[in-house]
Amino acid sequence: MARYSDAVCKLCRREGMKLFLKGERCLSPKCAMERRAFPPGIHGKKQTFKRKTSDYGVQLREKQKARRIYGVMERQFRRYFEEANRATGLTGINLLSMLERRLDNVVYRLGFADSRAQARQIVRHGHFEVNGRKTDIPSFQVSIGDVISVRQSAVSKIYFKDRAQLMQSGARIPNWLRLNLAGMSAEVLANPAREDTEIPLNEQLIVEYYSR
Ligand code: SF4
Repeated sequence: MARYSDAVCKLCRREGMKLFLKGERCLSPKCAMERRAFPPGIHGKKQTFKRKTSDYGVQLREKQKARRIYGVMERQFRRYFEEANRATGLTGINLLSMLERRLDNVVYRLGFADSRAQARQIVRHGHFEVNGRKTDIPSFQVSIGDVISVRQSAVSKIYFKDRAQLMQSGARIPNWLRLNLAGMSAEVLANPAREDTEIPLNEQLIVEYYSR
């Protein structure tokens, strides 16, 4: 599957904001947005993030920002939009809900990984199961009542032992998920609400982008 393979910090610099794509590093002084807060490229320094942009440009940037935060390629993102558009309710909210319910995002939100990219990797490596069945598809959509667990074969790995220590505080867990740290599992209690998406995204701009 096609994936973005250039330096991910360039994506933050292009969007003019931290997208938190690299876990711990994003919170450290090594973050590229702390050291080079201007767009990438040889003319980057001459550009400013506040330059005048058309309506289309603003909508495009919002869509790109969402794609990059959740690590979704264009074709799949458009599929999410089309499905969100067909579902009942507000398209933008449906879209954010679908992005939040991706298995890799759930693994990240529970604290099993420092970034969505790392979560995607450990899901792909087959360390998780949903309702007792091995699930190694990062885009898998979880539903209310689903139980996501670290597989027995992975629980004793050093990575998950260290992770369990870090997850003790449980500070990051959103309301729609319930973590059972002792069982290295979690249950989906509800669909994520708009306020559960802690990312500064204007979903209406994304809807307008695809509705042109
Ligand atoms: Fe973005 Fe994180 Fe890189 Fe900073 S360290 S530029 S927040 S990906």
